[in-house]
Amino acid sequence: MSTFQAPKGTYDLLPPASATYLAVRDALAAPLKRSGYGYVETPGFENVELFARGVGESTDIVTKEMYAFETKGGDRLALRPEGTASVLRATLEANLHKAGNLPVKLWYSGSYYRYERPQKGRYRHFSQVGAEAIGAEDPALDAELIVLADQAYRSLGLRGFRILLNSLGDRECRPAYREALQGFLRGLDLDDETRRRIEINPLRVLDDKRRDVQRQLEGAPLLRDHLCDACRAYHDEVRALLTAQGVAFEDDPRLVRGLDYYTRTTFEFVHDGLGSQSAVGGGGRYDGLSEMIGGPALPSVGWALGVDRTVLALQAEGVTLELPPVTSVFAVPLGDEARRVLFAAVTELRRAGIAADLSYGGKGIKGAMRSADRSGARYTLVAGERDLEAGVAQLKDMESGEQEAVALDKIVDRLRTLLG
Ligand code: ATP
Ligand code: MG
Repeated sequence: MSTFQAPKGTYDLLPPASATYLAVRDALAAPLKRSGYGYVETPGFENVELFARGVGESTDIVTKEMYAFETKGGDRLALRPEGTASVLRATLEANLHKAGNLPVKLWYSGSYYRYERPQKGRYRHFSQVGAEAIGAEDPALDAELIVLADQAYRSLGLRGFRILLNSLGDRECRPAYREALQGFLRGLDLDDETRRRIEINPLRVLDDKRRDVQRQLEGAPLLRDHLCDACRAYHDEVRALLTAQGVAFEDDPRLVRGLDYYTRTTFEFVHDGLGSQSAVGGGGRYDGLSEMIGGPALPSVGWALGVDRTVLALQAEGVTLELPPVTSVFAVPLGDEARRVLFAAVTELRRAGIAADLSYGGKGIKGAMRSADRSGARYTLVAGERDLEAGVAQLKDMESGEQEAVALDKIVDRLRTLLG
């Protein structure tokens, strides 16, 4: 142990478990890569004001969860709590939306930071894979993103998740609903903070997880009864497209993202094996966000999937991913000359694309074979003085225990054949 520990609410990814994280990240991104999404990477921190406006002044993320700081140069920055605002900022800054090819479709993957109360599935540093389709209003685009997330989870073997779907309306129909909701909420028995929220961000109150609040919300007016014709038609089309693709979803009229620039389609992927941190991913349309950060009107839709919680969901379902072996061939040199020869053999195997490793540190045969065992390699390659005199190395199949002498210049060929 060193004097230091990982900061509260964080954890380290270490082998062998880290291989699963990497595979999950790859699997979540794979459907995007074959659907026209290009890779985008933005800095880990941004001007704090971008998030205040782009996530919303009244959200928990901005009021409580942001790691904000002032630099030596006097800039006010924040570690990114989410990806959408940064990706939209980068798109506008580079004028990608003016290249005449809308929507701009982008995907990303990385670390995000929120000062939260740490619990299982809720960390201060976590990882997301995200996608944004910027500059088009088309129900097929909303449906595409939901279908791709569904495919991503399924490709990992996950089955115990559900898709919750709702429409939040738009500038046309939401104001009247907002007032109706406020009228209803003002009549409830709520604490002061929630009362304040009614005035700033009433839709968020619907998201309150406390049981006594939920009970009072039972008769609350629902947006689906207030949608304008255009929003209703749009939502019906998204639903029809999903149904036609065999993607099952549940209508959840209480599902919200409580900000004015989130519009129409909103969805969440929840997994029932995760307890209270059940959301493995979520997203929706944010037609007003570009204007909020000083850009032109650019109707857009996106999602972010949580890598950490997806890994927990795999564990909850008892799914183990089939990962390629870290090492296929482990070489054990006995003596200095053998080290030179096997070092060359290992280098050549790696050049040929075969995962190979060598016993380092001049271990004796016993210790070296223990390392070979631990490496999980299917084959070991042992050479001592007598083998070298005969121009061979001993190739052992660790599964069957069979051993054969292979000519030194035939090692790569032989292993290529054996490993297929
Ligand atoms: P929650 O309601 O659980 O706080 P959220 O609405 O804040 O989730 P989003 O901002 O939509 O989450 O982020 C998308 C996904 O990122 C979530 O569905 C979740 O899987 C993951 N995520 C969000 N916050 C955390 C966190 N603190 N630790 C681990 N994963 C997280
Ligand atoms: Mg949250």
